[in-house]
Amino acid sequence: MTLPPEMMVFFKRHIDWLADHATDADMRRYAVLAEGPRHYIDLDEYGEPPFADLPRTFPEALLRYAEVFGITTAGDTVLLYSSKRNTTTDSASPWRPYFTRHVATAFSDPDHRLDPDTLAHFLDTHDLPAPTLKAAFFTETLSAHGVLPWHLQKMQRDLTNAFRRRDPKRILRLCADIGHYIGDAHVPLHTTSNYNGQKTGQLGIHALWESRIPELFADEQYDYFVGKPQHIGNATDHYWSVVLRSHALVDSVLTIERRLSRQYPADQQKCPETRGRTVVIVPCPDYAAAYQQALSGMVERQMRAAILAVASAWYSAWMDAGQPDLKRLDEPAFTDDDHREETLLRQQYEKGQILGRPEEQ
Ligand SMILES: [Zn+2]
Repeated sequence: MTLPPEMMVFFKRHIDWLADHATDADMRRYAVLAEGPRHYIDLDEYGEPPFADLPRTFPEALLRYAEVFGITTAGDTVLLYSSKRNTTTDSASPWRPYFTRHVATAFSDPDHRLDPDTLAHFLDTHDLPAPTLKAAFFTETLSAHGVLPWHLQKMQRDLTNAFRRRDPKRILRLCADIGHYIGDAHVPLHTTSNYNGQKTGQLGIHALWESRIPELFADEQYDYFVGKPQHIGNATDHYWSVVLRSHALVDSVLTIERRLSRQYPADQQKCPETRGRTVVIVPCPDYAAAYQQALSGMVERQMRAAILAVASAWYSAWMDAGQPDLKRLDEPAFTDDDHREETLLRQQYEKGQILGRPEEQ
């Protein structure tokens, strides 16, 4: 609702589609192995704020945290690149463009395969030792701790390109997805390895903060008027600052709940609640209210910041694409294949086993 009228002509028409598909990214965690890590980053795995050493762009992060291997025609696996061997601070590293073009783009392939001929050609042109290769791949340690701020930068670029190509289907899909990831990036517990309080005896705090409190209070109490979207000048800086600001709240999220749970009557913290035909145990409404109060409006503030950030992401992509006329955009043509894929996604989600780590359980 905060978008300019030139964008509203398109977005208002598809408002229901966008709402329906805002959780597709979460459902994909049941179907696609590479999906899980896009929703979080365990910043505490990389030292202390402001994590000045942690590369802000994805190719740079890969240069630090990936190793490239080749398999020779004789069947030997040889290490061709490792940050321990190659100083990544050297901006002239010949590997940098290779990582941007080939390693970063092969990241979502579950086997991290690289094309052996392209790699051999690259080694050859840069006078690097080049054994004859029949296969190549890379390993990395980024997935294990999440890739959220890097993935957001890619999404922003992809969305801008979708607007440039005036591709309504892709615009909608990417808008739904980037909105989802931006939402996740505003949840402090999506930026820490202690994402569900499992390291501090606070199991269940993830759902208390991001699900229970909003479902109880958001519709009635929150003010969603956030003002006009802002143009994002530098997506790298922007998304890192979102994630770092969320991370700065982690300590309060945990400390305040720990203190409250000690003061509050233990038998009034968890309540049974009927959901459909099952009874689940969830944080009691009064306990959730007390936590929200003790957080001094943090959940609402983060939700408002997320709304503005989603609008700003869509707006910036549209601006950077040269403000294409959305009035003249075709209706998105969803094909039978699209619908089949959607059904499959929902089925996998419903019988569901998350590929990767769960957040809430
Ligand atoms: Zn998510």
